[in-house]
Amino acid sequence: MASLGAPAIADGGADHVIPGLDTLTARIERATRRVDRWTRATWDPEVAEALDTAGLNRIERALASAKVASAEVLDPLIGPTAPDEIPAAITAALSDANPADSMRIGLSATLAAWDRFRTATDEGRALRDRLRRRLGFPLVTGLRACPIEGIDPFLHDWGDNRGWRTHKGTDINAESGTPLVAMERGVIVQMGWHYLGGNQVYLLGDMTGDVYYYAHMDSIDEGLEVGVSVSTGQLIGYVGNTGNADVPHLHLGWMPGAGRVDLEGLADAYPMLVELCL
Ligand SMILES: [Zn+2]
Repeated sequence: MASLGAPAIADGGADHVIPGLDTLTARIERATRRVDRWTRATWDPEVAEALDTAGLNRIERALASAKVASAEVLDPLIGPTAPDEIPAAITAALSDANPADSMRIGLSATLAAWDRFRTATDEGRALRDRLRRRLGFPLVTGLRACPIEGIDPFLHDWGDNRGWRTHKGTDINAESGTPLVAMERGVIVQMGWHYLGGNQVYLLGDMTGDVYYYAHMDSIDEGLEVGVSVSTGQLIGYVGNTGNADVPHLHLGWMPGAGRVDLEGLADAYPMLVELCL
């Protein structure tokens, strides 16, 4: 964690941090307000459940993106910091800085912006937990589960240049043979061998319509075939380095709301994975 004992940032460095945080705060507040409105519709239990599900999906994703984005926004002040360590890092930065420095770089205004952000986040989380409870999800998993247990922090490598192509997924290193589980309740829509992906599985989520792509698996669980339903957290196979992979890792691809395998619909799953896994 970077210390702010002798602030290396320029005068007014916090000027960029505060609007950045306020933008994130506004985004979470907007998502929370909207989802809260959707999920007050109770005229029909089936509609209510569908709205709760869509709302939970929306708020979980908003919280996940905000968590990662807040680390990026705060980077000039506290350096690269894991999302969960941000509150401690800000507190440390504040207590390390002498009062003159603190004033010069606007730390107290930053802290106020951080407090607004945290209040918005807490309200978003409260709504999320309310929806999880109402839909009968365990409070720790919600709609989705981390695809792989007990992993170390991983890089934000979505969009990295990999020579002749762009990296359209997130790589999570793990020992060969580490169990991989279904990120969402759903159905296997495609699986088998591919020269790049190796042993690979595409799972279509029931609740969100998202497609999750698992590549380089050492092996696929024997019970799996196209059309088979799985529950959230169910074993689907094991980490490996089959296909175009040097070291054992999960390459996770994500097609939010795609409803089918659609490589054009691949999107950055990193914030969601950080929220679920770390
Ligand atoms: Zn990859």
